[in-house]
Amino acid sequence: MKVYLKYKKEIADDTLLFGFDSPDEALSYTPGQYACLKLPLKYPDEKGPERYFSIVNPAGQDRSIEIATRISGTGFKQILAGMQSGDAAKITKIGGKFILPQDVAKEIVMVAGGVGITPFKCMLADLVLKEEKRRVTLLYSNKNKANTAFYDELSQMAPAGYLVNAYFVMTRDESWPGPRGRMNARFIADNIPGYAKRYFMVAGPPNFVGGISQVLEELGISDVRLEKFFGY
Ligand SMILES: Cc1cc2nc3c(=O)[nH]c(=O)nc-3n(C[C@H](O)[C@H](O)[C@H](O)COP(=O)(O)OP(=O)(O)OC[C@H]3O[C@@H](n4cnc5c(N)ncnc54)[C@H](O)[C@@H]3O)c2cc1C
Repeated sequence: MKVYLKYKKEIADDTLLFGFDSPDEALSYTPGQYACLKLPLKYPDEKGPERYFSIVNPAGQDRSIEIATRISGTGFKQILAGMQSGDAAKITKIGGKFILPQDVAKEIVMVAGGVGITPFKCMLADLVLKEEKRRVTLLYSNKNKANTAFYDELSQMAPAGYLVNAYFVMTRDESWPGPRGRMNARFIADNIPGYAKRYFMVAGPPNFVGGISQVLEELGISDVRLEKFFGY
């Protein structure tokens, strides 16, 4: 389906959010799913004109779709970053099984590495929109605060009752007053009471997701869903 850029904005260092409109067709998705975005390639890109992006905005805003990404030097990202309001692109597919469990009683731990926050932002914004409170804890790892997309919105969610707790963990920020370093087994055991029985959802670059899934295995946690952002 054809979509048109409505707005773009910087949401963290080197990280842009893009809002597209789909005037001709309604978009249907479940929070956590991805869209495959196809751009008219003006510069060469060895991986071609399409990339998958988790949808950021909650379902129900049926003619608009937001995605967010780290901008780099690939042809695709350069064209995306240079798009102007009204420019056309295509969504060639919407899909994915990385969605909230149907059982609303499950105690969920969302673990995001960098831009891997996108599917969780969608799920959480959808819960806020529906005023549905579930027991969700967020563990969100970034290099530093300037690199942390959606920091303000996410840090308001625990006080508003949409998160049990949010841990912003920085790997390279000496001045960060909160937790620092890589999330390891000790960090999870110390901060997530009853972790063995929680439902873990992990999203981000493959290295991050692979590392966390090893940590969860070490801790004997088996109820785990993974979303690897292949391409990073
Ligand atoms: C289901 C699914 C959902 C996805 N959702 C998103 C999404 O919401 N947002 C998004 O940005 N991408 C998402 N991706 C990945 C996306 O499709 C691209 O593959 C990715 O953005 C890389 O884009 P690029 O090929 O233009 O290369 P680049 O952006 O240039 O990235 C490729 C290279 O840059 C380096 N790199 C740059 N940033 C990082 C980083 N943060 N961590 C590790 N290495 C890095 C690595 O060396 C890597 O090889 C998703 C992928 C899948 C499969």
